Amino acid sequence: MARPTQAIVDLEALRHNCRLARSLSSDGKLMAVVKANAYGHGAIPAAKALEPLVSAFAVACIEEAEDLRNAGVARPILLMEGIFQAEELEIAAQRDFWVMLQNHQQLDELDAATLSRPVTCWLKLDSGMHRLGFSLDESAALLARLRASPNASGDVVMATHLARADELDNDFTPQQIRVFRGHTAALGTPCSMANSPGLLGWPESRDAWNRAGVMLYGQSPFPEPHPQADQLKPVMTLQSEIIALRDVAAGESVGYGGAWTARRGSRIATIPVGYGDGYPRNAGNGTPVLVGGRRVPLVGRVSMDMITVDVTDLPPMAVGAPVELWGDHITANEVASHAGSIGYEIMTRMLPRVPRRYLGQ
Ligand SMILES: *Cc1c(COP(=O)(O)O)cnc(C)c1O
Repeated sequence: MARPTQAIVDLEALRHNCRLARSLSSDGKLMAVVKANAYGHGAIPAAKALEPLVSAFAVACIEEAEDLRNAGVARPILLMEGIFQAEELEIAAQRDFWVMLQNHQQLDELDAATLSRPVTCWLKLDSGMHRLGFSLDESAALLARLRASPNASGDVVMATHLARADELDNDFTPQQIRVFRGHTAALGTPCSMANSPGLLGWPESRDAWNRAGVMLYGQSPFPEPHPQADQLKPVMTLQSEIIALRDVAAGESVGYGGAWTARRGSRIATIPVGYGDGYPRNAGNGTPVLVGGRRVPLVGRVSMDMITVDVTDLPPMAVGAPVELWGDHITANEVASHAGSIGYEIMTRMLPRVPRRYLGQ
């Protein structure tokens, strides 16, 4: 028997979420963010499923873009941090990778390059995230410089990134939108601001290009219920089975370090998934796990290959009972909240040891 721990990736759910992102984009174009192996889902199968529905893809580095091209993905692919070395420009030109320009060194390298054809450039402006991007005051001058450059082709897109769009009651996002628009409206270029929380929660941030990441994978970017985000369907189900059952007496401890002690006679089930698979080691006692369709608490420490759960309150069950770690019933966000993390991180951290099985291909 193969180890029963698997990540089921539902490509129909991915397409459902993408259609929602597209409808929110209205006239704007949708760019699917598939960096970090499509947030752990598998960049190539995810991109192939999404390709008919989106106008372009976005990744964090040229290696990710090359993997997609080599697999036959044909749409433009934006390198969201731009190039790390000047040699990447010629590759970008040849393979239709779009390049974000986020600092002066990149701009100088573009000017200095001799390219077989021009590359499509986006300009990253810093509207308050203070991580990447040029000062807003420079935007007109930079645009003029790019338009004059033989190495830059087509429409330059002015982009910025929202720092707090997941906080729907915070006025930082409206401020970012206001200053960004204040500096770009007169330039007459296409713009791009929205990430998933922008697209879902801040209609004013939607523009010519929208960059959807986490929502495609079915996780809400918001901590609270939200009418649109709640229509998303989880794409990944991490599932397994019970491989051992035992009774422990009150006062006995379970697992490394005795991190959980039974207060009553308890039935403990062991599941073959651990931090060596990407299940978060910080998930504490009480993290929900679905066993035989019912929620039970994780008890004891997460080990590399296994976890233990308390099934005392469930009807009798046998080895082989089905387990969902996250998926339709328990979101990755919920598990993450028990581990001091976010759904983004725990999905992205799913390790190669976990076989991915694709549905709806
Ligand atoms: C990762 C990323 C996104 C996607 O963010 P989500 O919150 O996952 O939608 C969009 N834009 C940039 C610049 C990013 O780095």
